[in-house]
Amino acid sequence: KELKELSSSEEKILVSVRLRPLNEKEIARNDVSDWECIDDHTIICRNNLLERSTYPTAYTFDRVFRSDRSTRKVYEEGAKKVALSVVSGINSSIFAYGQTSSGKTYTMSGITEYAMADIYDHIQRHKDREFILRFSAMEIYNESVRDLLSVDNTPLRLLDDPERGTIVEKLMEETLRDWNHLSELLSICEAQRQIGETSLNETSSRSHQIIRLTIESCAREFRSAESSSTLIATVNFVDLAGSERASQTLSAGTRLKEGCHINRSLLTLGTVIRKLSKGRNGHVPFRDSKLTRILQSSLGGNAKTAIICTLSPARSHVEQSRNTLLFASCAK
Ligand code: ADP
Ligand code: MG
Repeated sequence: KELKELSSSEEKILVSVRLRPLNEKEIARNDVSDWECIDDHTIICRNNLLERSTYPTAYTFDRVFRSDRSTRKVYEEGAKKVALSVVSGINSSIFAYGQTSSGKTYTMSGITEYAMADIYDHIQRHKDREFILRFSAMEIYNESVRDLLSVDNTPLRLLDDPERGTIVEKLMEETLRDWNHLSELLSICEAQRQIGETSLNETSSRSHQIIRLTIESCAREFRSAESSSTLIATVNFVDLAGSERASQTLSAGTRLKEGCHINRSLLTLGTVIRKLSKGRNGHVPFRDSKLTRILQSSLGGNAKTAIICTLSPARSHVEQSRNTLLFASCAK
């Protein structure tokens, strides 16, 4: 029984919260910071204490990061273990979740680079195995998938492969030659994403970006049945649409802002993660959205998941911050 408990706690989704500093605009309008990390696991809403609000005052997670913590630290403690499981053949996903302007892209782009550097380093230190790395990137906007490595904006179809599960048809996959090649590909994605953003209004708040690395490895010399086996796994770095697109307050019909459409992929991801965190029983609605279909083999099962929830400290954002923490609490 002890063993079983141990393994189930190992399977748990790693959930962290990162508070960003107040930005210049917020300081200029005399906004104040409501949130404080009181230790490595607890974040509190100071304003709650004064207002005697009925919302929870303290929230606990696997890790919380104060606003002066570096992305390196967030990566080391909130994502590294999950990202590196890919080199031992375990699929994984790392998500940035939070409202627009809370720091998702800032956090996820750093994490992606650090993780890729560590994966490269691992490969350099394991010369007994041969590694092949394949890179791909896509964006989901309005339940339509496009390739971030291609200038062609034609939406890509999802296909069900009996062996590989859901695959994105015609998605480009680049086999990595070296570290420079990787940086090159990352900047292509960045540029492609910005092109999309200028042609459609505020895409980044509505779209999900997935950067994915598939690693295949086998032993260079045959020694035993175990060492000769081929390992293949995928790690996904996911910069999600702004969480205001799945806001509870929207579905409750209050304060419906114009143009703020509920995002099906984000809503479904929330349901999937809630179900997975409660254990493996029952139906998990992976097939209800493009995002969860694409990520199915890297969510649940023996896959590893890390969620970094990014939080604006501003009082003017308190409602969205509470929603983000509610999501984070459900994922634990
Ligand atoms: P999002 O992707 O959630 O919309 P961004 O990552 O674009 O938000 O962040 C919004 C702005 O805040 C950017 O200018 C970014 O550089 C800055 N920012 C975000 N997080 C931090 C942080 N932890 N420290 C310093 N600046 C940050
Ligand atoms: Mg962003």
